[in-house]
Amino acid sequence: MRCANHPDRAALGYCATCGRPLCTACIVRTSAGNYCERCAAGGDRPARAHRGIPWWAVALGVLVLFLIVRAFLH
Ligand SMILES: [Zn+2]
Ligand SMILES: [Zn+2]
Repeated sequence: MRCANHPDRAALGYCATCGRPLCTACIVRTSAGNYCERCAAGGDRPARAHRGIPWWAVALGVLVLFLIVRAFLH
C-alpha cells in the first residue's frame, strides 16, 4: 500500500471520505477519523457534517422525563 501523493512512501491509512491511501505527511487526523488534506479542508464533502444529538433522541428523552415526572406527581 503506497501513498496516493507519494508513490515512494508507505501509506498509514485511508481517507475516510475519498478512500485514498495516505502517508504520515498527507494524513490529517481528526476526532472524526483520518482524512486527506483536501477532504479535511471540506473540498468535496457536504459543508455541514451531521453531528450532535439526533432529534429522535431528544424527543425520547423529553418523553421519558415527562413519564418520570408524571409518575412522581400521581
Ligand atoms: Zn480524501
Ligand atoms: Zn503522502
